[in-house]
Amino acid sequence: MAETMTAALLVEPGHFELRQMPVPAPGEGEVLLRVRAVGICGSDLHFFRGLTQRETAYPLLLGHEFAGEVARVGPGMAEVQLGLRVACAPDRPCGRCEWCRKGETNVCPDVRFAASHGEPGCLCDYFVAHATQLHPIAERVAFEQAALFEPVATGLHIVENLVRPAGGESYAVMGAGPDGLTALFAARQNGASKVYVSDLVPERLGAAEALGATATFNAAEGSFVEFILDRTDGRGVDVVIEAAGAPAAIQDTFHAAAIHGRVVVLGIPPVDELALDLTAARRRELTLIAARRTVGKYGRALELISSGALDTDTLITHRFPLRDTQQAFERVRDRRDGIVKGMIIL
Ligand SMILES: [Zn+2]
Ligand SMILES: [Zn+2]
Repeated sequence: MAETMTAALLVEPGHFELRQMPVPAPGEGEVLLRVRAVGICGSDLHFFRGLTQRETAYPLLLGHEFAGEVARVGPGMAEVQLGLRVACAPDRPCGRCEWCRKGETNVCPDVRFAASHGEPGCLCDYFVAHATQLHPIAERVAFEQAALFEPVATGLHIVENLVRPAGGESYAVMGAGPDGLTALFAARQNGASKVYVSDLVPERLGAAEALGATATFNAAEGSFVEFILDRTDGRGVDVVIEAAGAPAAIQDTFHAAAIHGRVVVLGIPPVDELALDLTAARRRELTLIAARRTVGKYGRALELISSGALDTDTLITHRFPLRDTQQAFERVRDRRDGIVKGMIIL
């Protein structure tokens, strides 16, 4: 087996370089995965745009939404078949803390998460994964479809774990990028009566319609809040999901929510602090939910993908080889050519 591999490293904001790196070795309880498909996530883009609020040590090996096949096994892993096709979870929770013991591994303070806080990402040929990260996939499921399981699981976490739908509730989703679209899909899977979706990109609104949006709204053409109030006789919707990461959209959320509504903030805004209209929140007795990653939904996400319940082509619009990572990220950043989810195929 080769000793070096190609990696697309972010050497500074806005600039990837292909470099050779040593192939990592799997340790006890780990396997080496040959990476086959990597989805470009909004959080990767955050680094590419240089928006991270924390000290960042470049170069960065980004990428955490991925699938591949087992290329080598570490000690104690002899029972794992070489060539096994898997979707790989990006998180390795500590398993010992108060939150892990309650099964709330998404908030583990000691989690090791791919491409975060010095952990390697997967925009490269090989990645070392722990056995607990592996989710085998059926032969009929393509690697690029399997790589979607993490964002789909995130949408399911928001709706099923955090919103906890009563059924027949109305939703507004601000932002029809991959996160907004998977939240829309999860809302539809959970009996939402109506889902209104806004974005600035017509192709993304088209994807929202394909995934079951009741009505879509181009936010360049006016106020989404007014659009929602018009359609609900001034009542507002039961659940507002902010997935644009735009400060103005986050500030709008309270005004779109009905009395006793729940507001989920999922997008990553370019600033840490924002002014919010707390009077509007208090008068309606709203619940504000801040969402982090996902927990307990990987299996269900893979089922929905494997069964065809999710038409993955509505999300995966563009594919690039690893050597074109720079162009892929530029296209996602500029939202060119109607891109929704860009996939790097290795
Ligand atoms: Zn992601
Ligand atoms: Zn933990």
